[in-house]
Amino acid sequence: MKYYSTNNKELKVTFREAVLNGLAPDGGLYLPQCIPKINLELFEKADLTIQEIAQEVLSDYINEEISSSELSVIINQSLNFEIPLKAVNDNTYVLELFHGPTLSFKDVGARFMARVLSLLTRNDNNETLVLTATSGDTGSAVANGYYDVKGIKVIILYPENGVSEIQEAQMTTMGKNIFPIKIQGTFDDCQLLIKKLLNDKELKNKKQITSANSINIARLLPQIIYYFYAYSKLKSKKKIAFSVPSGNFGNITAGLLAKKMGLPISFIAATNKNDVFVKYLFSGVFTPQPSLPTISNAMDVGNPSNFYRILELYGHDYEKLKSNIISYSITDEETKSTILKVWNENNYLLDPHGAVAFAAFEKFKTNNQGATGIVLGTAHPAKFQQTVEKIIGTKIEIPETLSECLKKEKSAETLPADFNKVKDYLLEKN
Ligand SMILES: *Cc1c(COP(=O)(O)O)cnc(C)c1O
Repeated sequence: MKYYSTNNKELKVTFREAVLNGLAPDGGLYLPQCIPKINLELFEKADLTIQEIAQEVLSDYINEEISSSELSVIINQSLNFEIPLKAVNDNTYVLELFHGPTLSFKDVGARFMARVLSLLTRNDNNETLVLTATSGDTGSAVANGYYDVKGIKVIILYPENGVSEIQEAQMTTMGKNIFPIKIQGTFDDCQLLIKKLLNDKELKNKKQITSANSINIARLLPQIIYYFYAYSKLKSKKKIAFSVPSGNFGNITAGLLAKKMGLPISFIAATNKNDVFVKYLFSGVFTPQPSLPTISNAMDVGNPSNFYRILELYGHDYEKLKSNIISYSITDEETKSTILKVWNENNYLLDPHGAVAFAAFEKFKTNNQGATGIVLGTAHPAKFQQTVEKIIGTKIEIPETLSECLKKEKSAETLPADFNKVKDYLLEKN
């Protein structure tokens, strides 16, 4: 399978190149040249394990460079935590993707990509710098995925005042090959810096660099797996709609790939007040905006980087796209009242991101009677302890992995949102 740039269909590279480049040299994002079709019967008949599903779903994407036994090892090591599908009420389920080491769904992509990168570069002499921008959860998931992996250094850019205390503690208390940088700016600044750094000729000549953001195809592909997995659990249900809490739209892009592969599902792109996608579906015009702060901060993205992948998957056909994806913008007030309502009525605790998706499915349901909703639970509620406790008025239990890192000393470099300053830091210190 070859991968092409969303900016130029003729620019084709191997999977290895796509993973190492992160972003295509022309600034585009990589997509597979063709989308393999799956045999749906396999999922209708048998009860496959998530590992078996992963093997089925992913092998065509990577089998030229990664053998099926290597893939099997990578899958077992990356998906080594449970992904329960919990019924919240009669027609709504939450797929809990947050039982990995950093309690974020980003563990799936980050752990998979770390192992893929390490495999693809095992014969290289140069150290690989993995650059990533985070609005909260990517940083710790990536750091954890690559922690102490030989030949790899991880540079994390995060916005000052843009991440929670727990999130900051998670990524600044690791040490070893993990280098967090606090940027005096917003997440969009961090993301822009990464894009420029990845395309900087001097840096590229001196270092082997790649990105671990959701722009990297190796993070996107493993996220396809759990759409199939959840579907296989609920295959007897009719009209399954996934409600995906979206920021950079990587997670939903993986879902759309699953749909293109043949999964009969529909999609709700749930956003907070950062609603450029909702506006796009309404008007056909995509206008990036500065990001606005909300209580679902990992979704505070004003220029979702996967937008062009989505356009591409629909052949730039606005009408088609519009008839395939529904999108809602949920206010902080609605998010809070959803958390409280579901807690009181169903005894289930949502985190603010899952709550945005839950609220979006509630809206969807009013026009789609009989639909079964699968809400993606992207973070453990304890990661947003203060917010959640204030809403439900009760103390919640904090998993040990989180309380441990809060005790450790934090260490991060602080830099302005200035391309040259960050570049110099990378050239000098790393
Ligand atoms: C990153 C993140 C999202 C958004 O995922 P995208 O793939 O960027 O759309 C949603 N929820 C949580 C908790 C996240 O960390």
